[in-house]
Amino acid sequence: MNKGFCEKCNNMVEFEIKEIAEKVEIKGREYGYNRLIGYCKNCGEEISSNELNDENLIRIDKAYRSKENIITTEEINKILSKYKIGKKPLSKLLGWGEVTLIRYLNGDVPSKIYSDQLYKILNDEEYMDFLVEKNKDLITDRAYKIVKEAINKQKGNEFKYNTSIESEIEIIAEYIIAKGKEITPLALQKILYYSQGFYKAFFGKFLVEDDCQAWVHGPVYVCIYEKYKEFKSANILIDIDYDIEDIIVDEKRELLDVIIKYFGYYNGKALEKMSHYEVPWINARRGFLPVENSNNIIKKEDIKEYFEKVKNKYDMLNILDIKKYSEDQFKRVIEIN
Ligand SMILES: [Zn+2]
Repeated sequence: MNKGFCEKCNNMVEFEIKEIAEKVEIKGREYGYNRLIGYCKNCGEEISSNELNDENLIRIDKAYRSKENIITTEEINKILSKYKIGKKPLSKLLGWGEVTLIRYLNGDVPSKIYSDQLYKILNDEEYMDFLVEKNKDLITDRAYKIVKEAINKQKGNEFKYNTSIESEIEIIAEYIIAKGKEITPLALQKILYYSQGFYKAFFGKFLVEDDCQAWVHGPVYVCIYEKYKEFKSANILIDIDYDIEDIIVDEKRELLDVIIKYFGYYNGKALEKMSHYEVPWINARRGFLPVENSNNIIKKEDIKEYFEKVKNKYDMLNILDIKKYSEDQFKRVIEIN
């Protein structure tokens, strides 16, 4: 039901919406569009409504862009996902200011020349490839490899860019750091571990191939440890210049988001303690003193079994049910300490 304030009735009233063909003048040219207007159902007076105003502005913007053949924000987003490139690196490839594309995505209307350039790369992979090669020094090596791989795929080459970009676990770690807030190396390890366990329990596959080790402070994926150890107990800061959300997709992303939400909320120390109550880590630590270093692998089989049990015990039907487990584990941490 549409409700708004009628000046004449001096009250909140229901209104009906009519579409009326109108023209608007922009920079001396006229553009036709169908304007939405609300009318009070009691007295017929015109009602002003923010929602209708917003919708009318969108319609004017559409009419303008369509008549002038100016690219839309949806089409710009299509470019980003087609080439797996971030907004800033794409701006740089085009030789524009770093935030130009961000402004366009926020609604600024590109000039005709800029818009034509964007259409060209949207429709022409060869031209995009040319730009990437010409300006590759302006973007990072990783962004370059990812965009090249996307271009090759678009051109129908199943050929994978032969320098391996990053392993799956590294990309997942970056996603966790980017998506989580204030992630320390210790917390990152635990979030990876819980993601691995619950992904297996819900989707039947392991999230990452890598094994983790049962260190004194809980499960550790060594390659990730090495990569971020310089941050020690501080939050990890990284600069990701590609659109990581286009790379981690579907159920992987959903699961990671859930784990980040329900476990990333706790600090690394709390997460460490949680993992110490769990069978996979305990099994791998057998025969070692609490403070004794060990490189023992936490068996994937143990992880699988344990998290399947958790899933059954908590009657988890949906990944959102993981919340109950994280809360219970945290309660144990507080009660025992
Ligand atoms: Zn009225």
